[in-house]
Amino acid sequence: MPRAPLLAVAVLLATLIVQSAGAVVKGDERVLVVLATSGPRPYTVADVEQTAAQAGNFFSAASFGQVQLRVDVTPWLAAFNGNPGCGGSTNRSLESVVAPARVAADQAGFDASRYDDVIYTIADSHCGFHGVTWGHEVMLTRQPNLQLVVHELGHAFGLGHAQASDCITAAGLCGLEETGDPFSPMGSGEVDFSAYEKVTLGWIRPQPHVTAAKRYVLATPTSASKLAQALIVDTAAGAWWIEFRSRPFRGLLFRFVDNSVVPSPFAQSAVLIRKLTKAKRPWLEQGESYRIPGSFRVTLTKATGGRAEVRLR
Ligand SMILES: [Zn+2]
Repeated sequence: MPRAPLLAVAVLLATLIVQSAGAVVKGDERVLVVLATSGPRPYTVADVEQTAAQAGNFFSAASFGQVQLRVDVTPWLAAFNGNPGCGGSTNRSLESVVAPARVAADQAGFDASRYDDVIYTIADSHCGFHGVTWGHEVMLTRQPNLQLVVHELGHAFGLGHAQASDCITAAGLCGLEETGDPFSPMGSGEVDFSAYEKVTLGWIRPQPHVTAAKRYVLATPTSASKLAQALIVDTAAGAWWIEFRSRPFRGLLFRFVDNSVVPSPFAQSAVLIRKLTKAKRPWLEQGESYRIPGSFRVTLTKATGGRAEVRLR
């Protein structure tokens, strides 16, 4: 499926604060996995195909059937004469590492340009990172597993990291952990994408911006629903995304999206607040309240099944 280049997305983000800014990803997503080596074959094609099938199931469920991965895995290809190294920090240096793998794939009958995303897995590199994504190309330096493939494809789809901070005060965030959100594969988890990420990808509708102090009904974003799947509270500093999760706990999550957009090829990150109450857990349970700095006091008044009642005061 053709998409606007990520650079264009970044420009859009810099000029507009639109929740749906980012890459809308729907329909068939053709992914090529290139297994490139100078000799060693530390895992099998079947291993990688199994992981690709798991990732396909994950994206299908997370998108409510709107995205289907179509993955081809090459055989192991002798692309390098020795350890190709890790590349540098620029797109060009990464490109130079994977270029021989692309040529080898082409010679084996896999034309990388005919795919939406290409994942190069390098058998024998030992790098300080497990994966890196630029544009719609991914380089993995270890065996692909579900979390790694979903995370890097999330970047290829335009998502940034799911960050976390212990708290937020008038002075700002209490530290920032770049991939600290344990409930999103763009952080350290693989439970499901957040409502914010699903809106960014076009998998759920734009969500309501709430301005009135009253009761709201909220459905979890992990299942399809006609109800609101997040409440957005706008403040001078940024937007607060409140979502309800019913598994493995029942509670409200609070994520903050800063207004000051840093130019990046990826969508703006959301920051999960980890200590909402004295209980110091990253969700609000029934009966508990959290005051959004400079805005509403939010109470989870009722949580049953996949639905929550939330009161704003
Ligand atoms: Zn990442």
